[in-house]
Amino acid sequence: MPSSAQLPVLSHWINGRPVEVPPDQTGPVYNPATGQVIGRVPRGGAGEVDTAVAAAKAAFPAWRDLPLIARSHVFFAFRELVWQHRKEMAELITRDHGKTFPDALGEVVRGLETIEFACGLPVHLAGLNTPNVATNVDAFTLRGPLGVTAAITPFNFPAMVPMWIYPIALMCGNTMILKPSSHTPGATQLQAELWKAAGLPDGVFNVVYGGREAVTAIVEHPDIAAIQFVGSTAVGRYVYETGTKLGKRVGAYTSAKNAMIVLPDADMELTADAAVASGYGSAGERCMAQTLVIAVGDAAEKLRPLILQRIEELKIGPGMEPGVDMGPIYTAEHRESVIRWIDKGEAEGAELVVDGRPFHHPENPDGFFLGVTLFDHVTPQMEIYKEEIFGPVLGMVRAETFDEALGLINSHKYANGTAIFTTDGGAARRFKLEVNVPMIGVNVPIPVPVGYLSFGGARESGFGDLGMRGEDGVRFFTQQKVVTERWPEPGRRGALSLVFPSNS
Ligand code: NAD
Repeated sequence: MPSSAQLPVLSHWINGRPVEVPPDQTGPVYNPATGQVIGRVPRGGAGEVDTAVAAAKAAFPAWRDLPLIARSHVFFAFRELVWQHRKEMAELITRDHGKTFPDALGEVVRGLETIEFACGLPVHLAGLNTPNVATNVDAFTLRGPLGVTAAITPFNFPAMVPMWIYPIALMCGNTMILKPSSHTPGATQLQAELWKAAGLPDGVFNVVYGGREAVTAIVEHPDIAAIQFVGSTAVGRYVYETGTKLGKRVGAYTSAKNAMIVLPDADMELTADAAVASGYGSAGERCMAQTLVIAVGDAAEKLRPLILQRIEELKIGPGMEPGVDMGPIYTAEHRESVIRWIDKGEAEGAELVVDGRPFHHPENPDGFFLGVTLFDHVTPQMEIYKEEIFGPVLGMVRAETFDEALGLINSHKYANGTAIFTTDGGAARRFKLEVNVPMIGVNVPIPVPVGYLSFGGARESGFGDLGMRGEDGVRFFTQQKVVTERWPEPGRRGALSLVFPSNS
């Protein structure tokens, strides 16, 4: 094992170049599959945020004024580079996060969707033009950038989530500071290098690593106009409340506890595949995972043995190993937290059908591995029903009727994604119309909208009025201006009048 002096030390990325920091200003990066420290990541604070904001502010006017098509050229080049480096990026994600390599590759490709959307963004930035709204008067709208913007992102999608934010911000003409999670920094470093290689002007895209201090500095910085945050509800609420109080535009996309309804007429084989893939994929560390299965009538009796069958076949191991379905938990602390949730569920009286706690990976005894857990007879009064666990723990809830199941979803404090499994088109239609959750799947367990549509939750899963990406993303990262202009014919200025102008 290399000594700590030999470990690679990552750098902030400011004004188009790496900014190195002394080892005493860094923290460890772990490979969760081995439990070993594999590198060091800077712990930035107000000083680094200030430097990055100054670079982004200086770069803003020239980037804003660059013709849209020239901005688009940089984006096409970046898109091509990310595609070429997708496997390298996925390997870095698997190394830092633990998810399987095919899952990490899928994440990069889902991030690319939004970069591709941004390549064609000029058409979305076109305004409305209405000639002759009054005599010799025309009106038009235009969308202009806000200035320096920021993205604060979580550990669980180190490529995809930043790629859902910065392409829109930058293509709209803003500059950006990205503050990624310090747990999964490898993919971020590569993204910064690829922007440079794509020809993005220095200072347009900057990365500052760090935790609470860096986030506070971003939220309070007077020169940052807008922030999109993705992460837990506790931190998201702070970013939203403090940022908006200081006059910033803020969108915060936060924690979740998603539930899928299973009606008795559902295709149970498909539903069991969906429940297991959604509940345990990426070790349950996805904000769109369906971690509650609300089975209506006798659906639970049909579904439970099929889920158990699939659980028996799951292979848990290092994410780079071919054939592995589920990797480790991302940190030792989080593994302990998930174990405490399983203890809690047991104490609350849920039926522990499969217990993931005893699992250990024989070749990687220090890795942060955990087996999958299945609870049945979970009730809405239990904490394991109410709170996000963010681990491979699936809970079955039994409901008498479709109405009861729908009521449960609509009264949960979280509202990120949901799904229904049924062969009844009428029930599915009613679900789409009556469920109060913004992202809905019908026989689809992880209903993450395609990259050119907007993404965002409600209630405790989302703060702010607009989603990430898509049309919402464009609105979020631009200020609309409405211009009313008069060009009188020469010599026909008209008479002075103090009457409020009317359009006739
Ligand atoms: P987190 O809230 O711990 O961290 C998110 C960001 O905030 C990181 O950049 C982190 O460095 C920073 N941060 C952490 N603690 C902070 C503090 N005390 N003060 C200021 N900043 C702080 O979230 P996480 O653990 O990285 O990610 C998991 C969470 O993110 C889950 O709750 C998950 O549901 C949520 N998530 C939501 C979405 C969504 O779109 N709704 C997507 C992915 C993840």
